[in-house]
Parts: sequence; C-alpha cells; structure tokens
Amino acid sequence: MQLQGLNKTFGSNRVLQDITVELPEKATTVIVGPSGSGKSTLLRSLNLLERPESGLYQVADLNIDFSKKISSKQVLDVRKKTGMVFQDYNLFPHKTVLQNVIEGPVQVLKQDKNAATKEAYELLDKVGLKEKADFYPDQLSGGQAQRVAIARSLAMHPEYILLDEPTSALDPELEAEVLKVLADLANEKQSLIIVTHNLFFARQIASKIVFVEDGQIIFDGSSQEFFDQRQGNPRIHDFISSMS
Ligand code: ADP
Ligand code: MG
Repeated sequence: MQLQGLNKTFGSNRVLQDITVELPEKATTVIVGPSGSGKSTLLRSLNLLERPESGLYQVADLNIDFSKKISSKQVLDVRKKTGMVFQDYNLFPHKTVLQNVIEGPVQVLKQDKNAATKEAYELLDKVGLKEKADFYPDQLSGGQAQRVAIARSLAMHPEYILLDEPTSALDPELEAEVLKVLADLANEKQSLIIVTHNLFFARQIASKIVFVEDGQIIFDGSSQEFFDQRQGNPRIHDFISSMS
C-alpha cells in the first residue's frame, strides 16, 4: 500500500504533514516515534477511522483520494483489506471467544456458519487458544484477549493487519505471548503494520521502520539502517536513548 501527500489536522493542530510512504505487502512495517507524534492517526487513516483532508491512498486495487467524498462502499472495501487490532482488544464482551471470531466472517463476509466455525478453531489453535473457545473475554488474561483479537482479525482475511500498540497494556510475560504470535505471522509473510514502543521487538521483526515525529516522517528505511543511525542522526539517537 501507498500514501502520497497525506495531511490531517485537528483544529489548528497539523497532526500529519505531507506523509508519503510505501508500506510493503508481505512484510512487517514498524512505526515508531514519540507520544503524540501522529502514529495512531496515521494507522487509523489506513482503516478510514480518521479522514485526512488531502492525500492519496492506494491499497490493493483500491484508490482513495482524501480530498474527495468517500462512499460507504469505499469504506467497507478498505476495511476488508485492512484489519485493525487495538491496544485494548475491543472484543465483544457478551460474546464467547468463538463468537467473537466468527462474527465478522458470518455477518460481514456472509460465510457459512459451519465453515466459519471450522476456520475459527484453526485460527484459535494458531494463536494457542483453542481450549478457550467457549470462554468470555472477561475470563481471559490481557495477552489471551489480544491473541483472540488477532485471530478475529485474521478470520476476515485482510491483506494487511494494523496493530496499534498491541502489547502496551500487557505485563512482560503476557506481552511475549502476543509478540510470538506476531513473529509467526511475520514469518508467514502476513502483511503487518505495527505501532510499538518495543524497540527490541521492532529490531527483531521489522522489514521496515518508519519514524514519525511531529506529524512528519523523519526516517523510512530498513531496521538495520534505523539502528545504525543511532550515532549519526541526533533525533533517532535521542529517541532510542529515551526508550531504553
Ligand atoms: P501518537 O499515536 O503518536 O501518540 P496520535 O496520532 O494519537 O499520536 O495524536 C497525534 C496528535 O493529534 C496529538 O497532538 C493528539 O492530541 C491529536 N489528536 C489525536 N486524536 C485527536 C482527536 N480526535 N481530536 C483532537 N486531537 C486529536
Ligand atoms: Mg497512539
């Protein structure tokens, strides 16, 4: 997918300024940057949860021009290509784990319920939670809930999965369970775009790192280049120091 010349303001606050970036398919892009720099706004724009005032967005065979009116069909189409996973999971509290995973495929994709259920069990197995299928969200740990949210996203077969600080609410050992699942998906070439403050994980998993500061992209390159610039680029240096 690609963004070209994206601008987003909240009042007089220019939150995204002329963002142009390629977010490659079948790869893992990690977005990093200080709090308030615009990372969530950028990620949410990819799912059309935010509407930039201008800019072009291409994902798969879809082309969005943010300066024009966006139809509800375009919104639906973009959301089928991009699944969002939130920091606080956003599971349906009154549905079981299994019901959470099959809801989208049955209601939105109109999949046959038996087929959706079969696949849901496979996905729950993949994230290590098959035995929790009949549990409710409040019976799960944070790490388990986030893995259900990832399975629910996978059930929709999006081209890209977008994850906004997926482990920020988790204790380290629960975080590790979720990072393991994400590393497995990255190895399977699932396209991922992850906002995270975990630079150790970013270094391990990222094919590409995008560093955002004050609504602008300050760095866009390989993980190795990013960490190599630790000496040369004072802003990257300061950011990495502040995180470790
Ligand atoms: P990050 O995810 O990097 O912490 P955000 O994208 O959440 O940054 O926010 C970027 C800037 O936009 C911040 O100054 C924030 O206060 C502002 N902002 C985000 N969402 C809104 C909103 N709904 N209304 C007004 N300002 C917002
Ligand atoms: Mg954020």
